[in-house]
Amino acid sequence: MRASDFSDEIRPHLFPQPSGDLIYRCLQCEEVFSIESLLYTCLKCKSVLLIEDRERERLKQYSGSFWRRLFDHRRMLNHPALKGIFLFHELIAPVIPLEDIIYLGEGHTPVVQANDVLQEWVGLDFYFKNDGQNPSASFKDRGMACALSYLNYLVRSQGLTEVLSICASTGDTSAAAALYSAYMSKTVKSAVLLPHKKVTPQQMSQPLGSGARVFEIPGVFDDCMKVVEHLAENYNVALLNSKNAWRIQGQESYSFEVAQSFDYELEKKVVVVPIGNAGNITAIMGGFLKLLDLGVIETLPKIVGVQSEHADPVYRYYRESAPSKRVFRPVTVRPSVAQAAMIGNPVSMPRVVRLVEAYEQAASSPGVFVVQVSEQEIMDCQLIANRNGHIACTQGGECLAGLLRAREEGVVSAEEVAVLNATAHALKFAGFQESYFADDLDAAYEIVPKPELRNFPALVEAPGVTRLPAPGKPLPPDEFNTFVEETAREIARELGLKEKAAQI
Ligand SMILES: *Cc1c(COP(=O)(O)O)cnc(C)c1O
Ligand SMILES: [Zn+2]
Repeated sequence: MRASDFSDEIRPHLFPQPSGDLIYRCLQCEEVFSIESLLYTCLKCKSVLLIEDRERERLKQYSGSFWRRLFDHRRMLNHPALKGIFLFHELIAPVIPLEDIIYLGEGHTPVVQANDVLQEWVGLDFYFKNDGQNPSASFKDRGMACALSYLNYLVRSQGLTEVLSICASTGDTSAAAALYSAYMSKTVKSAVLLPHKKVTPQQMSQPLGSGARVFEIPGVFDDCMKVVEHLAENYNVALLNSKNAWRIQGQESYSFEVAQSFDYELEKKVVVVPIGNAGNITAIMGGFLKLLDLGVIETLPKIVGVQSEHADPVYRYYRESAPSKRVFRPVTVRPSVAQAAMIGNPVSMPRVVRLVEAYEQAASSPGVFVVQVSEQEIMDCQLIANRNGHIACTQGGECLAGLLRAREEGVVSAEEVAVLNATAHALKFAGFQESYFADDLDAAYEIVPKPELRNFPALVEAPGVTRLPAPGKPLPPDEFNTFVEETAREIARELGLKEKAAQI
């Protein structure tokens, strides 16, 4: 829709001007730092930072219903900068001018209701939000769109040249980082560090295809993370891990979109999310808190975080119900099919602790739960979801398994409605499905394939066919007819098809 066709109330606000006073705040010692330079940890105490808008009260001169109308109207606009996560510009990174925003098609991912089969099985209504339909096929694009837009702004306003972006990854962060960096190929080169043999071939192909330098590091993700942190502390690089607080800002868009897709009515809604490095759950809680503070929503949804028993430090931390007795202990991870969440020492843990506190204070009843599921449940749930029309990755399967667990434990009731984060596209993790079907998953996964969930292709070799067509070698007409008829007969036999009655 053309800007001139919007109402007088909305038109002046359609295209936001840079605003706000953003700073980095240390979660440990509360020290604040300027955003003029890229900073990843507190210069005083080394703890993680979050971005805060010191002028956020200015947004309250408008009512919650004004913001709802503005955000809904913006969906009709055709301005590229506002097509993705920056539709919520005022809430994400209002200091970035629209001209610097990088939009590669991220955000506004589909929210797909589960069919009756699945809903009856789980015992409540639920949806998958398909974040695998982002440009690099995972939710990581949300944070990367923000981090790289900010970098783009710095490049232009400070005249930076030859920036090197770098990250460690369980696969999807590097795919997103390499993609967005490639878009800025004039000024940004990217390098990614991946744990050797711990990312899928599809995930490996992504940064390679985007032209990034790819380094494989022996060990698991947690080891990679230490190396990249050392690089960021000692060399001049732009770190794109979720230590980079701009990524958290961008990932908050998930919450804004969930709210928007339910017309901002979040009573009895439950948001289910897998936890790895814990950036996503941090952003999701932060996003809903912002909406509540502005009156855009009136109720906070319940949050259910899910972890595999093979990588469950956050679950273990919250298993202790008395807050004063909780102690965080990193765990040594074991192989997990939810490989993108296979993290024993989540970087964002201090953020989670802080935000869970804030969330619990603002929610009228307990608002955040962490449940634990088995590898078997994750894999079975992924396959079952996808056999019912979804495109969930293993972490999406983990969400479904987590919803079942939450239901079992009475954390979620039949009257509630859940939104499950299908964090990546199923195709990125096709190898786990393949190994499940072939029953050759390493014993360490502790998964026994269920016969009814396995599936194989069948090569059709009809008995009466002697010669086969091949590329560039078509069969003569009568032999080709025999091939078609006999092959079709064989398939009909396999499928138990009945022949049509003769037409009169
Ligand atoms: C990164 C990732 C996760 C884990 O998210 P965190 O923010 O690290 O907790 C889950 N699923 C997928 C597909 C991911 O790429
Ligand atoms: Zn500090």
